[in-house]
Amino acid sequence: MSTSISTTEPTTTAGAGPAPIPHWIAGAAVYAGAGDPTAPVTDPATGRVSGAVPLGESAEVAAAVAAAAAAFPAWRDTALSRRVQVLFAFRELLNARKGELAAILTAEHGKVLADAMGEVSRGQEVVEFACGIPHLLKGGYTENASTKVDVYSIRQPLGVVGIISPFNFPAMVPMWFFPIAIAAGNTVVLKPSEKDPSAAVWIAALWREAGLPDGVFNVVHGAKAAVDALLEHPDVASISFVGSTPIAQYVYEQGTAAGKRVQALGGAKNHMLVLPDADLDLAADAAVNAGFGSAGERCMAVSALVVVEPVADELIAKITARMAGLRTGDGALLRDGVGADMGPLITRAHCDKVAAFVAAGEAEGADLVVDGRPIVADGDADGFWLGPTLFDRVTPAMSIYTEEIFGPVLSVVRVDSYDDGLELINASPYGNGTAIFTNDGGAARRFQNEVQVGMVGINVPVPVPMAYYSFGGWKTSLFGDSHAHGAEGLHFFTRGKVVTSRWLDPSHGGINLGFPQNS
Ligand code: NAD
Repeated sequence: MSTSISTTEPTTTAGAGPAPIPHWIAGAAVYAGAGDPTAPVTDPATGRVSGAVPLGESAEVAAAVAAAAAAFPAWRDTALSRRVQVLFAFRELLNARKGELAAILTAEHGKVLADAMGEVSRGQEVVEFACGIPHLLKGGYTENASTKVDVYSIRQPLGVVGIISPFNFPAMVPMWFFPIAIAAGNTVVLKPSEKDPSAAVWIAALWREAGLPDGVFNVVHGAKAAVDALLEHPDVASISFVGSTPIAQYVYEQGTAAGKRVQALGGAKNHMLVLPDADLDLAADAAVNAGFGSAGERCMAVSALVVVEPVADELIAKITARMAGLRTGDGALLRDGVGADMGPLITRAHCDKVAAFVAAGEAEGADLVVDGRPIVADGDADGFWLGPTLFDRVTPAMSIYTEEIFGPVLSVVRVDSYDDGLELINASPYGNGTAIFTNDGGAARRFQNEVQVGMVGINVPVPVPMAYYSFGGWKTSLFGDSHAHGAEGLHFFTRGKVVTSRWLDPSHGGINLGFPQNS
């Protein structure tokens, strides 16, 4: 960290370069010093650089952790009723101003405004869940467990907790964690994705407005070096990570080796199984929504459509017809009050990578039913555009099936039966989300019982659990055993303590070196 970092925004002359994006440490925006490393932040709909994000390293992380550690004793001792007032204030501010946050998401991520509003709303649900923290933190109490001995359990905060988030949900994913962490009395250092970092700073300023004491919520920007510094810092008690599987595994291994509690949510390849008795119009709508929403850059996107043969042709015809009506364009643009259906991809490099997968699918022999590469988008020609793409007759050996593409590419795999479909899904190394489309309750019930995936939809294509349940996958979609939010989130951000107490009365006493027994 440069010695010249400052809480004053550097003065720039008009046209002198992209706006500097600050860290947020101890309740204030902190700007990088001259000469400190930065990375460009780009508007994916125009290709233009809109900001410069500082790439923090160990010094910036140390400053943020020190601020969080200093704030911890007072925050953990702040009355629950006061903590809840701050949470309610944050919820009210967020609800009133979510349009501002959504606009930031669209400008840096590219997702269309309606989708960005949906992201904020799903994050807000976790804030609302955390507003119930007094009830959630209630422990158990057993009177007279032994003669005149009472036993009770309490849950206490961990201390400084680290959150590391991916580019695809810059607001919602951090919100899976920090409302509960803060409500439970922890203090937070968030390391957002360097690709769309501004949402985190906006949220930090909102916390301040809501009355959160300085230092309870901090943001450090950066990439690998910042992540490594968090993983190594002795004052960081836990890490909540969300991102791709190789990095999730790395974070889990490094973090636990450093003695931290770690939950690391990884990548996905989500299957949607369509049985012959399904409502095919519903299934076609669902496949299009779940395959192309947010340009396929969702960890719960459907990317493999597993169709039992007799209905494959009919379903593909219905999907193709719907795809013809999709508008790909600048997520901030409204035409007659209506926004585009799908925005650009996050970066030029990612767009090229997804296009390369499409080329590989063709080369490997899949039927390219709809090719999104020649798209003419409703937006700037320099945006990172790739239209909705559909492959048929994909086999499990093809790279478009085995790899997480993370783009608007839907692959149809034809199978002969429910059993073949189930076997395919269970053979996947990922286990984040899945869905079955059927009108047969018995088949749906079998599926929920037999499928080896953490989140299951029955005629619901993107089964993201409500805030009061927990979000998380199986297999390489999650390292650790704690899912996000809900009861598991509360458990992750607190430690249990059991107190056995005896208040003296005149009859007590006596020496007894034996192991305590109940009487
Ligand atoms: P990513 O793994 O590239 O980055 C995630 C975070 O890790 C970022 O903050 C990034 O700065 C950091 N990082 C990147 N490379 C690193 C390295 N070598 N060492 C240490 N830290 C590193 O993921 P992404 O591209 O930002 O996000 C997309 C991925 O996230 C997809 O795989 C998607 O499935 C996954 N995801 C999963 C869930 C889930 O709930 N399971 C939710 C959202 C996204």
